[in-house]
Amino acid sequence: MIVVQKYGGSSVADTDRIQRVAERICRARRDGHDVVVVVSAMGKTTDHLLTQAHEVSPIPPGRELDMLLTAGERISMALLAMAIYERGLTAQSFTGSQAGIITDAAHGKARIMDITPGRITDALADGHIVIVAGFQGVSRESKDVTTLGRGGSDTTAVALAAALGADVCEIYTDVDGVYTADPRICPSAQRLEQVSHEEMLELAASGAKVLQVRSVEFARNHGVRIHVRSSFTYTDGTVVEETAAMEQAIISGVAHDTSEGKLVVRRVPDKPGVAARIFTALADEHINIDMIVQNVSDDGTTDISFTLPRADGPRALQILEGLRADVGMEAVDFDEQVGKVSLVGAGMKTHPGVAATMFDALSQAGVNIEMISTSTIRVSVVVRQEDVEAAVRAVHERFGLGAEQGV
Ligand code: ADP
Ligand code: ASP
Ligand code: MG
Repeated sequence: MIVVQKYGGSSVADTDRIQRVAERICRARRDGHDVVVVVSAMGKTTDHLLTQAHEVSPIPPGRELDMLLTAGERISMALLAMAIYERGLTAQSFTGSQAGIITDAAHGKARIMDITPGRITDALADGHIVIVAGFQGVSRESKDVTTLGRGGSDTTAVALAAALGADVCEIYTDVDGVYTADPRICPSAQRLEQVSHEEMLELAASGAKVLQVRSVEFARNHGVRIHVRSSFTYTDGTVVEETAAMEQAIISGVAHDTSEGKLVVRRVPDKPGVAARIFTALADEHINIDMIVQNVSDDGTTDISFTLPRADGPRALQILEGLRADVGMEAVDFDEQVGKVSLVGAGMKTHPGVAATMFDALSQAGVNIEMISTSTIRVSVVVRQEDVEAAVRAVHERFGLGAEQGV
C-alpha cells in the first residue's frame, strides 16, 4: 500500500524537526507501507530567498527566480534523506524534475500537465523511502525548472498520490486539521472531522491557506482522499473527500484573505463594451480578478470596482492608465487596506437567509461591508482590513461554530 505524506515548512523548520519527521516516516515504513514523502523548504526559506531576489532585482526574470526558489526544497529533501539513513532505513531524494513532474512553462504559477513517476516506482521497488521536493517541476517545452505557486507542495503531494494510486495523501502541517476558521485569529474554532472537496475548494479559494486551492482541485478531479494532520501530534486530523452520503452541515467554516487589494475605476461610460475592454486588458496581462461590482448608472457613467492580488495592483493601475483616454474613465484608485471574509457551507444551497444573518452579524460588530459576492455555497464580503479579525469572529459566533457553543 502506497502512502504519500507531505510535510510543510514549519514541520521541517530546523534539524530537530527534520529528525522528528524522519522518525514518523520510518514508523510508516516499518508498518509495511511504501512511503513517498513530499517536503517543503525549511521554515521561512522561500520568503528569505524571495527577499534576496528582490534585493538584487526588482522584477527578477521568472526562469532565474524559479531556479532560486526550487533550491529551498532541495535542502530539506536531502537533509531528510540523511536523517532517515541514520535510523537504519534507506531513502532517495528527487527534485521535481527527477520525479517526473511535468508542467507548463508558466514560471511562478506552473500547472502540472503530466507525471512520469518511473524513478519513484523504481526506488520504491528497491525498498527505498522516496522523498520528492515539493512545489516544483520541469517544463516539457522549455526544459526549464518551474514552481507551482506559493503553497504548491500540497499540489505536488496530491498529484503524486493520484499518479501512484496511493490510498491516501497525508498533509502534515502545524495545525491538526481544517478548522471552522483560522485558529490563529479565532481561538474558539473547532476542528472539522470531515469536509467535502466542494467546501474545501471554496474555503481554500477564500484564503484558508491550510491547503493550496489547486491541490483540492486536483483531489476532486482525481478522487484523492486528503488527510490533514499535525506533524507534532498523533491525533486524528480532517479528512477531505467526496462525502455525498454524509449529512451536510449548513455552514462548514469562515475563511479570510488579506492578500488582495481593491481597484475602483470611477465614472466610466455606461455603454456596451467598456467592461469587456477593461477586463480583457487585465486578462491579457494574466491578472486574476476576484470580485467585481458595478454601480448603478448615474448621468450615463458608472463606477466599476474589483479585487485582485495586491501584488498585481501597480501593474493593473498602469494598464488602466493606458486605457484612460481611450475608454474615458475619470480616475482609478487602488486601495490596499481591504480584506475579504467568506462564509462557506454546502447546506446553504437549501437554507435561505444565510447571507442576511451574516450581514446582521457584521453590522452588530460595527463592520461596514464594501463589496459582496456569492456562489451557491459561499457568501464573501470585502471589509476594511483592520476589521477582518473582528468580522471573522462575529460571523463564526453568530453561526454557532465555536467550541463552547456546540454546533
Ligand atoms: P504548511 O507550511 O504546513 O504548508 P501553512 O502555513 O501553509 O502550513 O498552512 C497552515 C496554516 O493555515 C495554519 O497555521 C493556520 O494558521 C492557517 N489556516 C487558515 N485557515 C485555516 C483553517 N480553516 N483551518 C486550519 N488552518 C487554517
Ligand atoms: N516552499 C513553498 C512556499 O513557501 C512551497 C510550499 O511550502 O508549499 O510557498
Ligand atoms: Mg502550505
